[in-house]
Amino acid sequence: MRADLHVHSNASDGTDPPAEVMRRAAQAGLDVVALTDHDTVAGHAQARQALPAPLILVPGMELSCRLDGPDRGDQQSRGVPGGPSPRGQHSVHLLAYLFDPGDPGLAAETRRIRDDRILRARAMVDRLVDLGVPITWDDVAAIAGSAVVGRPHIARALAASGAIASPGQAFTPDWIADGGRAYVGRYALDPVHAIALVRSAGGAAVLAHPRADRALLVSDSQIAGLTAAGLAGVEVFHPDQPESEQASLLGLTRALGLIATGGSDDHGSLTGHRIGSHTAAPGAYEALLSQATGTQPVQGG
Ligand SMILES: [Zn+2]
Ligand SMILES: [Zn+2]
Repeated sequence: MRADLHVHSNASDGTDPPAEVMRRAAQAGLDVVALTDHDTVAGHAQARQALPAPLILVPGMELSCRLDGPDRGDQQSRGVPGGPSPRGQHSVHLLAYLFDPGDPGLAAETRRIRDDRILRARAMVDRLVDLGVPITWDDVAAIAGSAVVGRPHIARALAASGAIASPGQAFTPDWIADGGRAYVGRYALDPVHAIALVRSAGGAAVLAHPRADRALLVSDSQIAGLTAAGLAGVEVFHPDQPESEQASLLGLTRALGLIATGGSDDHGSLTGHRIGSHTAAPGAYEALLSQATGTQPVQGG
């Protein structure tokens, strides 16, 4: 059973429509794929309709959380230009699987995150304009289309303006990397609260890529704390996590009785088409299924 439990579509910041993502998942020989767009389930309907047999779709979502950050959330969540740069802030991503998409608590929080993403993106554009970059909000909105707007869309607008040679160069301290000159933080959930929300919606919560880079680092003791709060698993196998970190995370999941998941975090052409590059440990998909009651996986065909 090959299960890639972490992929994005253009419902958030991936480049491909959900139907195309499902087609690529099947082509990559996967048995199971989870569509986990940032803070939205908007891609699920199209993915479901386009799902080729015998591929299985796990409806999911990647929630934006913040751990142990100094509480400057009010100013950041309004995306006030000129506010403090969030150097002490600690982003954490939480993968949610098989929750009830109609659950009012979870839906209200994801709506709040999405609304804030727009305020925040607009504030970053304002800062870029202050820095002399010839871009407008309309440029960014046109690139994002109907997707949940995010930094990759701003990066593409920056490149189109000629300020940088390619979108990847936007993620530096000069531009919109965490704490960068034009960076604005955003509203994010406390992960303990997010885990509770996912569980009360019948879903299973998995900590995404805790060792992918320093800005996303979650320590062993913090993972133990989240386990006590109801975390179901940890994403061990991920392209941005060195193999030594994967090995130590695998040991940690065994010690804590957590599910060891994995996924490619494919964003289409933005990350290079890499769906299926990383997959969950054997038995992880079945273990997630046994813990979730909010909705069922979808069988293609
Ligand atoms: Zn992530
Ligand atoms: Zn992701």
